[in-house]
Amino acid sequence: MPVKPSTSEDEYFARQEVERRRTLAEEREGKLLAEERERERALHLMKCPKCGMQLEEIAFGDVRVDKCFSCEGLWLDKGELEVIRQKEGGFMGRMLSVFR
Ligand SMILES: [Zn+2]
Repeated sequence: MPVKPSTSEDEYFARQEVERRRTLAEEREGKLLAEERERERALHLMKCPKCGMQLEEIAFGDVRVDKCFSCEGLWLDKGELEVIRQKEGGFMGRMLSVFR
């Protein structure tokens, strides 16, 4: 078969194919990252960040304390420390006396 010189049409289609494959590869990578994040989330959800054991969520008024009965750590969600700070009448002391 005689060698055909490449044309600007060949170049156009090759470029298109490269772009198409690049987009597919990027989509694959994005999906892998999303799956990885989901695996990590499922693995660490309600697990103690210190010792890795299960956290138990216990309500004290409108504050939900995540307690680890393995290392005795107490964990608060975003904003809950501020809620506690705004409470009066020894709220913090009463809460700690329950959860210690
Ligand atoms: Zn723990």
